[in-house]
Amino acid sequence: MASSQTQTSMEKASPEADKDWFKQRIWCLSGNKVLTTSDGAAPPAQTLARHIYHPRSADEIAALVKSSPATTPIACICGGHESSNAAALASSDAVILDLAHLKSIEFHRDDEGTLVTVGAGALNRELVEALKHHQLALPVGTGPGVGVVGYIVNGGLSGYFSRRLGLLGQRAVKLTMVTAEGDIRVLTPEDELFTAMLGAGSALGIVVDVTVRAAPESVVQSAEQRIFSFETREQAVEFSRSALGFMKEHALPDESVSMELVVTGTKALVVTVVFYDSFRGSTTEFVKPLEDLAASLNLPVAMEFHWTSWYETAAALWPVIDGMKGSPLAMLQHCMGTKDIPDDEILEFVSDTAVSQAPLDEAELSILEIRTLGGAALSGPKLPSGNCHHTFFADLITLYDAGKKKAGERQAIADLTRRLVEKARNVDNLTVDFSGTHSQPDDADYMVSAADIFGTEAMAENVKALKKKMDRNNRFRFHPFAKLI
Ligand SMILES: Cc1cc2nc3c(=O)[nH]c(=O)nc-3n(C[C@H](O)[C@H](O)[C@H](O)COP(=O)(O)OP(=O)(O)OC[C@H]3O[C@@H](n4cnc5c(N)ncnc54)[C@H](O)[C@@H]3O)c2cc1C
Repeated sequence: MASSQTQTSMEKASPEADKDWFKQRIWCLSGNKVLTTSDGAAPPAQTLARHIYHPRSADEIAALVKSSPATTPIACICGGHESSNAAALASSDAVILDLAHLKSIEFHRDDEGTLVTVGAGALNRELVEALKHHQLALPVGTGPGVGVVGYIVNGGLSGYFSRRLGLLGQRAVKLTMVTAEGDIRVLTPEDELFTAMLGAGSALGIVVDVTVRAAPESVVQSAEQRIFSFETREQAVEFSRSALGFMKEHALPDESVSMELVVTGTKALVVTVVFYDSFRGSTTEFVKPLEDLAASLNLPVAMEFHWTSWYETAAALWPVIDGMKGSPLAMLQHCMGTKDIPDDEILEFVSDTAVSQAPLDEAELSILEIRTLGGAALSGPKLPSGNCHHTFFADLITLYDAGKKKAGERQAIADLTRRLVEKARNVDNLTVDFSGTHSQPDDADYMVSAADIFGTEAMAENVKALKKKMDRNNRFRFHPFAKLI
């Protein structure tokens, strides 16, 4: 039986079907997994797991968990976008539950408004389209194929919307999960496991669905995007230096807007400002100093966009991300940020070192995203995610088509990325890799900090204690926090 078919029996799919499954379900390979090993070969790009199941309900998941020995490791795949491929690769004694069939997206009302229950196989694009239909909004991530539940259980954030709407997990009110023992549980905020599931969930259980409180689409007034072309890295650094000064002065203290500057390997500087419902004033006047800055540096406007709805803003990057392809696509992902409004030395590090030294020429699909965060993400309930403790955030995504690079070039890209991340770690008050969704846990000899990634020491201890209690045999071991818990 091919892996792509519905399969709840113990039949083994053919190696070819497993290979195809991996290719279809995995967005990219970790940039560490396309490097040659000591014997000169890159590890095979296919799952090691012995079975791949495609359950269709909580009952089927529970039955699968119960029917396998209590020590059998279990991995889950939702959207297949996690940066280290831990769950998709798994191990030879593991089984994978591919949750793609749990696609339901259901809307309900209560006294306070509209709730949405999202199944564990639903993708970001599907949720955004469904919300559009109901004139609603949520703080979704950018990637169209990112799994909604995969994003929530790792504490995902929205660069465009979290400042106004918090993290998606902060809007959760109910969650259905299956434990390591195969029991189905419905959790609400009163359960101690509930909060932990919204940042460390991939280590604690199998989520079947999550119910979140939606907001009206009117929370977003409009958004402006300007794309300026640059030729030399010096130009990108100079623009970034002043644009980050603008961000510090005008965007970070003003929670009615969010701002993002993206520097790309395709030599573009992309500035996006999202104006929330509380914004008063002229949106064109707000972005004019950034246009003037580009003009003063002779950087031409390549494109200009005005979005007038939450939906247009949420879907804006889909064509760009859909165009990122490789055979395979390789990615390394690291983040750095500050809890408060950053001091000038940190902004200088981001422009003069990060923008200057990011491997944008070597890995031409790479981007450095520099964003405002904070706002509702900071003031909302505390989840086990560094994302709800940070006000300012830069995400270095090293991305390239590994099929077009020689072994030495892939290694050089990994080395350049590592060198930059090491420099960031030496900058006072800059936290590095505080996010379960934006860090690369498979970097060799590199420890992320549990307190940073889960937000605080106390939260990290709580997650560790719950992991011990809920999953004694560490069945759920293929997740971004494997080095920590
Ligand atoms: C193009 C792109 C855009 C992105 N944009 C953003 C963004 O805007 N904001 C952001 O925060 N992150 C973003 N990310 C990161 C992304 O949110 C995380 O990698 C996320 O964990 C991916 O979820 P997934 O379901 O797609 O991946 P998967 O690899 O399927 O799952 C990720 C992890 O969650 C576990 N998991 C998945 N489903 C379940 C479940 N039902 N129960 C328990 N555990 C489960 C898996 O076992 C795995 O460990 C982006 C990544 C990419 C590649």
